[in-house]
Amino acid sequence: MSTNFPVNTFYSHKKTKRLLELEVKLEQGVSESKKRPLPPVLSSSLLGHSTDWKIFHKQAEALNYAKERGSGLMTFAFEEQIPGNEGRRKYVVTHPTNMWKNHICRPPDKRCSYEVIPMETQCKLYFDLEFNKLVNPSSDGNKMVDTLLAASFWAFEDIYQIKVTKCDVLVLDASTATKFSQHLIYQCSEVAFEDNSHVGNFVKYLMTEVKECRVPKVSVDEQRNLFVKNEKGESVSFCDSSVYTKNRNFRLFLASKFEKKVPLIVEVESNNYLPNRICYKNEDWPTAEAAFFASSLITYFGSSNQSKKRLLTFDRNKREEVTLSVDCSKHRTPFENKDPSLNGYSSSPWIEIDRFIAGLVAPAGTIRQWVYFENTETIVYHIHGNRFCSNIGREHKSNHIKYVVNIPNATYFQSCFDPDCAKSRPLPQPIPPAHLPWVNLLADSPPYDPV
Ligand SMILES: [Zn+2]
Repeated sequence: MSTNFPVNTFYSHKKTKRLLELEVKLEQGVSESKKRPLPPVLSSSLLGHSTDWKIFHKQAEALNYAKERGSGLMTFAFEEQIPGNEGRRKYVVTHPTNMWKNHICRPPDKRCSYEVIPMETQCKLYFDLEFNKLVNPSSDGNKMVDTLLAASFWAFEDIYQIKVTKCDVLVLDASTATKFSQHLIYQCSEVAFEDNSHVGNFVKYLMTEVKECRVPKVSVDEQRNLFVKNEKGESVSFCDSSVYTKNRNFRLFLASKFEKKVPLIVEVESNNYLPNRICYKNEDWPTAEAAFFASSLITYFGSSNQSKKRLLTFDRNKREEVTLSVDCSKHRTPFENKDPSLNGYSSSPWIEIDRFIAGLVAPAGTIRQWVYFENTETIVYHIHGNRFCSNIGREHKSNHIKYVVNIPNATYFQSCFDPDCAKSRPLPQPIPPAHLPWVNLLADSPPYDPV
């Protein structure tokens, strides 16, 4: 048996009326807001940022919406916490300042959010570094990061003539007792990569250089140490090169992977970066934590002037060309590949020839590396700092030059890594006898007289 208690037996008539009115208003509000189309004009916060917050089930729809709306809106992915749906990814399009406010208000273990790095979008240089500590007990992660930083600074200067230091790199960490896991995000305020595919090409080129131990001023052992064992026992780079695919989801600062409860935090020992307050202004990012969040975003540059930024590219073709020519893999014999004594960075066994070549490229240029080819008895000198190519009569903008010395003929010629110059090969010039002491020695010795 059920009894219906009329409301007015509990409340005064006046109160009941008021309650009903409120209820009606609430319901009206809910259905209105459900029906209401998106405002034609963006609603703005006091700071002038869009206050949009729109959830999508499909990433492509979210990306399209963000692109159409512009206004600094970005796409973020998050893992749902609703029972029955846990871990399923959804997408929100909003301004990063709104995302931060929402992110920081959640309990730490409920921050399972990612930045979506859209294709064809300017971005920062970033690395995802990881290895299994149990499989690699002797690997020192922080030391490896130091080596990678040095190698990347060299490549940045060598390719783009831009000096980067540790103060420009935000280091985030989510390591556990069993797994080393760090993110590096480069904060060069005057430059941006055209999109993350260019970053991927740059990183792949860099890791090829490291694998071949070709990075100057970094010891061979240190370069080799960047390769670790995976769970299958295979040798792999600790730098994950799969994070440069289109629309990549990259974990946010202070976020944990779903049900992992290990947040991505600023690494205390290796990080030397402090948020740049010109790019990430106090008004938008009032706390240090907020400014670190802003800095950690791969496709967000804050208030820095995007139109004044220099756009960096690294084409796959260019990478292959550079790798091929530096490798000289077409000409390499297996023996040469195996024998590290046949190439190097400091002096070669032909010190006099080294000096002669160094004299030709000085004062701006130096010998970056020499490679000896046994079958043709030639030495190839890779030059750093001087790109003057005799074929075009001026410096190349990005391609390096090299000198090729033929030992038996005592000749040399200059060539370069520009495909346009590949067809023309200059005439070999004689090396002055003063730089060929062994030839003089042979000439001075009496003819061999077999008994
Ligand atoms: Zn050239």
